[in-house]
Amino acid sequence: MNGSILIVEDEEKLARLLAEYLEQSGYQAFCLADGEAVPPWVRLHAPDLVLLDLMLPHRDGLEVCKEIRAFSTVPIIMITARIEEIDRLLGLELGADDYVCKPFSPREVVARVRTVLRRTNGSLPAAATGLLLDGQRYRATLRGRDLELTAVEFKLLHFLFATPGRLYSRSQLMDRIYPNERVVSDRTIDSHVKKLRKKIAVVAPGEEFIHSVYGVGYKFEPASKTS
Ligand code: CA
Repeated sequence: MNGSILIVEDEEKLARLLAEYLEQSGYQAFCLADGEAVPPWVRLHAPDLVLLDLMLPHRDGLEVCKEIRAFSTVPIIMITARIEEIDRLLGLELGADDYVCKPFSPREVVARVRTVLRRTNGSLPAAATGLLLDGQRYRATLRGRDLELTAVEFKLLHFLFATPGRLYSRSQLMDRIYPNERVVSDRTIDSHVKKLRKKIAVVAPGEEFIHSVYGVGYKFEPASKTS
């Protein structure tokens, strides 16, 4: 078994075709046609990857992607019917790991799935750290305990958490946290990270989640013991 893949696609024939190809390649495939059903399904079944069509009934792929990212770092490959869409989607920084354009060959999709899984499998899934982020209520809990973050601390943690292992410069983080302000100093990020680490250390002493790379910036990487 290579992993479980959730296919979210309302064109039944296409979904079935993808499922067949994935199963032939040793994956376990599940299909959902309705965007609304996706976040609860992902929460419950924790698939290894989600193939997410952009155009869905009731709730579109953009919203579904955002909703999944609020609590999970599962790799997501977005599927769109228009190649021009991809630039726009990239600009939105939805946290998708890759994009595929329709029409595609199922073989190509399987190859992308394999590549994305290989790329993301290197790091421990962030969910395994016991960190849960509720993007609607700005609430972060670690192993069942509320971290009591400020809105800014939450945003910072949430952003880093969505792309484990990816390094961001201070100014990239500033742009995310204070999109409309130009006056805040770079040191602001350092001080927020410091406070965040302190709050995490109360619950998980000796475990490092936010790593600094000297002279460059910060990244999220789950649970490496510092002592
Ligand atoms: Ca569709």
